[in-house]
Amino acid sequence: MSALDSFGDELKALKDRFRGEIEFQAPLSKFAYYRIGGPARFLVTPREFQDLELIHGLLRRNPIPFFVVGWGSNLLFPDHEFQGLMIRMKHLFTGVEEIVPESRAPEGQGVLRVGASVGANVLLRIAAERGYGGLHRFTGIPGSMGGMVAMNAGTHIGEMSDVIVRSEWVNLLENSETLQIHSRVHEASDFSYRRNHFLTKGDLLTHIEVRFEKAEPGRVKAEIDELYQRRKATQPVEYPSCGSVFMNPKSHGIRAWEVVEKLGLRGHRIGNAQVSEKHPNFIVNLGGAKAADVRALIELIKTRAQAELGIEMHEEVRILS
Ligand SMILES: Cc1cc2nc3c(=O)[nH]c(=O)nc-3n(C[C@H](O)[C@H](O)[C@H](O)COP(=O)(O)OP(=O)(O)OC[C@H]3O[C@@H](n4cnc5c(N)ncnc54)[C@H](O)[C@@H]3O)c2cc1C
Repeated sequence: MSALDSFGDELKALKDRFRGEIEFQAPLSKFAYYRIGGPARFLVTPREFQDLELIHGLLRRNPIPFFVVGWGSNLLFPDHEFQGLMIRMKHLFTGVEEIVPESRAPEGQGVLRVGASVGANVLLRIAAERGYGGLHRFTGIPGSMGGMVAMNAGTHIGEMSDVIVRSEWVNLLENSETLQIHSRVHEASDFSYRRNHFLTKGDLLTHIEVRFEKAEPGRVKAEIDELYQRRKATQPVEYPSCGSVFMNPKSHGIRAWEVVEKLGLRGHRIGNAQVSEKHPNFIVNLGGAKAADVRALIELIKTRAQAELGIEMHEEVRILS
């Protein structure tokens, strides 16, 4: 019997003890922001820490490919079946609390401990209610804290690495009976533009701590509202996408959307995927697009950028094969 089959049998047998959801042949297009993707052979959405421990045990006995998904806003899933386990972080680690940090925060600042599955939108709502300034940099990013740390997500105002103090995680590949919580106080070298340099294979973030500035709630809300309006005006929010497809090729002093523009590819379409008319660093799903369509557009842009402009483009979106 293959590891996939025996994993599946053991997963079925877990149904009564697992508090979250277990699904078989679950269509990934249902929750991917792109609305693209074939089924996952196995999809679990844990609700309690014990669920993660059960999964850890299962993976130790039956080593199969697995992938941790946050809110699925930076992922392009394959059209074919994902032959492994997707672990979707949605219902576990959802708290936001103000804490007294180990080393005292400077005057006028505070620290929040935030669960990895908390969405940026939820954090921003709380920030506006309670006057947590400085977090408006995440306005409009449709991701979870876990995904935003993994991606060092940010906007023109700033990125995750500017405010993150500490992370906590478990490792699902760890060769131990129980899951250990690891933690790290961050240094500048842990992050670079849209990258983290501390997570390793099998790591699943559980909590993070972020710094905020004490501010007047009305002012925080006004800053967030203004940034939302700006995004609605400049980004194709009416279509499914993954946000920016490419990282800005900073060493060339040009932004990714300008590269696509120079190539004359604004609005270019393959199948039902299209380089957005509104923002050429977005590739949108016009309805029923395939991962193959999006990948073909990505390849076209990369090939032509290299050949015609001498620019090597790198994807920001994470593509699963
Ligand atoms: C309309 C739109 C606008 C966007 N605008 C921006 C923007 O302004 N700035 C920006 O930076 N991004 C932007 N994005 C991209 C995306 O929202 C970010 O990259 C976000 O950080 C992804 O978070 P997620 O929870 O959806 O992660 P996912 O897409 O689910 O996963 C992304 C990566 O994070 C990892 N990951 C997720 N959760 C965990 C966890 N708990 N532990 C360990 N690893 C984890 C995954 O394995 C994967 O490698 C945009 C996307 C869309 C659709």
